[in-house]
Amino acid sequence: MTTTEKSNGATGYGVAAKIPASAHPMAGEPKEIASNINYHVRYSPHFSAFKFEPEQAYYATAESVRDRLVQQWNETYLHYHKVDPKQTYYLSMEYLQGRALTNAIGNLNIQDAYADALNKLGHKLEEIVEQEKDAALGNGGLGRLASCFLDSMATLNLPAWGYGLRYRYGLFKQRITKEGQEESADDWLEKFSPWEVVRHDVVYPVRFFGQVEVQPSGFRKWVGGEVVKALAYDVPIPGYKTKNTISLRLWEAKASAEDFNLFQFNDGKYESAAQLHSSAQQICAVLYPGDATENGKLLRLKQQFFLCSASLQDMICTFKERKVGKGSWKWSEFPSKVAVQLNDTHPTLAIPELMRLLMDDEGLGWDEAWDVTTRTIAYTNHTVLPEALEKWSQAVMWKLLPRHMEIIEEIDKRFMEMIHSTRPDLESKLPSMRILDKNPQKPVVRMANLCVVSAHTVNGVAQLHSDILKSELFADYVSIWPTKFQNKTNGITPRRWLRFCSPQLSNIITKWLKTDQWVTNLDLLTDLRKFADKTDFQAEWESAKMANKQRLAQYILKVTGVTIDPNSLFDIQVKRIHEYKRQLLNILGAIYRYKKLKEMSPEERKSTTSRTIMIGGKAFATYTNAKRIVKLVCDVGAVVNNDPEVNSYLKVVFVPNYNVSVAEVLIPGSELSQHISTAGMEASGTSNMKFSLNGCLIIGTLDGANVEIREEIGEENFFLFGATADEVPQLRKDRENGLFKPDPRFEEAKQFIRSGAFGSYDYNPLLESLEGNSGYGRGDYFLVGHDFPSYMDAQARVDEAYKDRKRWTKMSILSTAGSGKFSSDRTISQYAKEIWNIEECRVP
Ligand SMILES: *Cc1c(COP(=O)(O)O)cnc(C)c1O
Repeated sequence: MTTTEKSNGATGYGVAAKIPASAHPMAGEPKEIASNINYHVRYSPHFSAFKFEPEQAYYATAESVRDRLVQQWNETYLHYHKVDPKQTYYLSMEYLQGRALTNAIGNLNIQDAYADALNKLGHKLEEIVEQEKDAALGNGGLGRLASCFLDSMATLNLPAWGYGLRYRYGLFKQRITKEGQEESADDWLEKFSPWEVVRHDVVYPVRFFGQVEVQPSGFRKWVGGEVVKALAYDVPIPGYKTKNTISLRLWEAKASAEDFNLFQFNDGKYESAAQLHSSAQQICAVLYPGDATENGKLLRLKQQFFLCSASLQDMICTFKERKVGKGSWKWSEFPSKVAVQLNDTHPTLAIPELMRLLMDDEGLGWDEAWDVTTRTIAYTNHTVLPEALEKWSQAVMWKLLPRHMEIIEEIDKRFMEMIHSTRPDLESKLPSMRILDKNPQKPVVRMANLCVVSAHTVNGVAQLHSDILKSELFADYVSIWPTKFQNKTNGITPRRWLRFCSPQLSNIITKWLKTDQWVTNLDLLTDLRKFADKTDFQAEWESAKMANKQRLAQYILKVTGVTIDPNSLFDIQVKRIHEYKRQLLNILGAIYRYKKLKEMSPEERKSTTSRTIMIGGKAFATYTNAKRIVKLVCDVGAVVNNDPEVNSYLKVVFVPNYNVSVAEVLIPGSELSQHISTAGMEASGTSNMKFSLNGCLIIGTLDGANVEIREEIGEENFFLFGATADEVPQLRKDRENGLFKPDPRFEEAKQFIRSGAFGSYDYNPLLESLEGNSGYGRGDYFLVGHDFPSYMDAQARVDEAYKDRKRWTKMSILSTAGSGKFSSDRTISQYAKEIWNIEECRVP
């Protein structure tokens, strides 16, 4: 192996030295591919000459794959230009892309040839792909959804692009120390990313601050302030077994050379000389956490506007370019060529920015501009949590975006006039329906209201969530625009989340279905139901699951040093750490289980079901209670895993640095997963879909997409517990009135922590959040105490079910078989038909 050889001198190049270097980008044979990889090692060097260790092999392989993608990408671009179809532009502040290499060669259907080629060069594909850093330009579900959507858009041959920001540092890296979680910057571009192409010719000016100039004609123009350049970096997104390769265009902020004050610099005033440079660099420096409330508000607002302005200028430019030489055109045609989807309210400024571009730059009148804007833009809501609904200070907005505030005021004024003249019955609701909240203490702009008033379609992300939007959050608007509100239940891409992350299970599915069409038509999985009882199918299924469990056990040993038993029940909860997601309920259950095991005789213990409970996820750095939960999980693990009396029956592991690549190892090896949010609080969830697709059973509440998953796979295959969404408000009231009586098991678990069984860390603040009847950080807002007994009962049903392996395997098969609905191909087809009105545009 090359890895063991010295890296300097010709010997470091190892077996690769014998293979010629050739630039042929579309090589098909392993020998030619090996030559192409060699070409990149020699002629696109990024490292010392002749160095060919796994890292160099990764970069050269990625560049070789990229050559192919560029070919398809250019063809796609030309084809769209020629056909000029209506196109969707997906605007998202987050993309959680993960690694690209396995996905790219999988979608291009060249994995075997690349594996062979790398063998010839003395490397193993499985090792090479591990070299890639995750592109983590997102926090969690919302960002991962955007990435799954891109995969489906490309696979369905839809004319669609994504726009986002090229954050210099992605979501922080998490390390676990004695203190609990420790964060550090994620330097994903430390070397470089082979998956991006800078487009030096795609640059737009983006203005901040300044003032509005009124010309004698009454024409208004935004001038002055500071202007930053937005530079495009494109990431190719290949579809599965199709030529169509679409773009994720990420904007980087750049200051102009003129902004660098050479005189000041020569004068020794280095900081002020480079002030505009560093203020431009700040815009794309870091990704902000999705649900943190107080955070460099001005900078975050700048980021949002930067994304919206650059992307809209680019769309308008593309729209005009595609019209060149095709006769005369009108602005009213814009919405028949362009659909814009806002991924949550983060890109809401696209609304006033499109109005501004159309009126101030293109000369349209208000009515015409409003008609174009409202027919172009659609909005997806992702949360009903009040603290996560964006509200921007009007004062900050006037300062940063004075022209946009004028436009927002006008939209607000016209909305009120419309209510006055057509819906006097809603007059009393106006204060909460308006876009501007004139609360004299803190006047704000309510972004969600701006979206609802301006977008042609508003959708929730699971049926329950969309129902709640219509009956609660946006109830007052429904009678004005009854057809504006839709549901689009989220989905996940079956390529990354089954075909590539669990090749063995995929091969068994293909073998029994006698087709691999399920990869793009996931409903075909229902045919697996026919074999759910068959002994030989079950045996193959179990052996694939066992191989995945063993791979997972090796991974856990590598990253935590804890040995786990692949014969125990693998029980996993991975997602961002948040009180509403209730990792605390999970760990309190584990604590209770541990206490009971301790009280049992060795004989009694033998009749229990052995479990390995794995919990992972990142807690935002200033979210103290979330960090305390991480610490508690780690402390419980340290005690339980080292207790020789019980540690063959129970292990508790905190999995560090949860991200897409970690998910791709955990999910295929899971048997039970926990989706246990307080009902009504998780809009959809998407990891529930990933687990279910991989034959993992769910213990969960009737929340988000759990409801639909349970419907699809059958209630007998789902471990349900807890209050329902419509019971929650009354339960909270009862609690406030002192009517809650805790279950003795719940008290026992809390008391066990207090006794110091898991060390001396001060868990009081965490425990207090579960106590009292009301008050900030008290009163158990998330109903952990209320749901605890039914949760423990459901866990007892899990233990029983796992003892009957045949029954469990059948339930596992039925989970996969019932997951067809949750393909993002289904979701995206619905968006395309019911919101965007776009059609397939396949590259010949
Ligand atoms: C799917 C996914 C999520 C979303 O998980 P939920 O349980 O739906 O909140 C978050 N992070 C990563 C890395 C994911 O892959």
